[in-house]
Amino acid sequence: MRTVPQLRRVVHPSYAPSRFRSVYLPLLLYATPSLHSRPETSMSLDHIRIVLIEPQHPGNIGAAARAMKTMSLSQLVLVRPREFPSFEAERRAVGAGDILNAARVVDDVGDAIGDCRLVVGCSARNRGVLHELFDARQCAAQLLGETASGDPAAVMFGTERTGLENHDLDRCNYQVVIPANEKFSSLNLASAVQLVCYELFMAADGPALELPKRVAEYPGREKDMEHFFNHLVRALDSREFLEGEMREVGIMKIRRLFGRARPSEGELKLLHSLSRLIHKDGQ
Ligand code: SAH
Repeated sequence: MRTVPQLRRVVHPSYAPSRFRSVYLPLLLYATPSLHSRPETSMSLDHIRIVLIEPQHPGNIGAAARAMKTMSLSQLVLVRPREFPSFEAERRAVGAGDILNAARVVDDVGDAIGDCRLVVGCSARNRGVLHELFDARQCAAQLLGETASGDPAAVMFGTERTGLENHDLDRCNYQVVIPANEKFSSLNLASAVQLVCYELFMAADGPALELPKRVAEYPGREKDMEHFFNHLVRALDSREFLEGEMREVGIMKIRRLFGRARPSEGELKLLHSLSRLIHKDGQ
């Protein structure tokens, strides 16, 4: 249940409206909990990490941290930020410096998401080989459902100018599109983070979510999926199965297929055995 605290009437009637606006109102707003505030954290929001890939503007990192904190998220991971730590990031974070201080900086996307069983990537763009698409609200429900057991999950955001690259989107189970003006659909990075976090915050407070059906059989972690893809591609290459221009597209389609299927750990073992069978030298 969302709680709406009652505003106490603390304004003396003799105060003129203008004085109320300029002196009392700011004080009142400062001293009163925000109208829609909630307890600081919800368990499952703690397991959802926001991953920014190659953020170029430190201001966006700060604004993203602030966006996260307002919505009770705290896990920020930066992959190859152009400049971090930075004064500008601190400035834009305002009161969310703690999120910046705790942010993890990594060189490789795998280090940011490897331990996750669910990874979603935010992109406004249609990237040819389509992923299963979620809007931000559906994405929030899925993330919360799947992290209820305590497993970490990640939401990835791309770099400001070019967005999420295909090879990063390939590592995601779903693509998230924030519905927007179809002629102008690209949001500022921190605004996109804000909207996704807002949906998570709202969903966390909603009725208990139905857990995904697959919960009894956990999907493999991202690093196990990556290990399998590499094995499969080596096996296919040994047979010269994918060649020339089509190789890249073929690999992408295979990755998306298995990314969608979300094989469990047991199924991944089976798929490794199949890859060994395909491999010319049985490796
Ligand atoms: N010019 C880039 C957009 C970069 S905006 C492009 O065309 O892809 C920075 C990031 O914000 C994007 O990589 C994406 O992760 C997120 N983002 C912005 N608008 C979005 C939208 N409408 N839906 C989903 N993600 C969005």
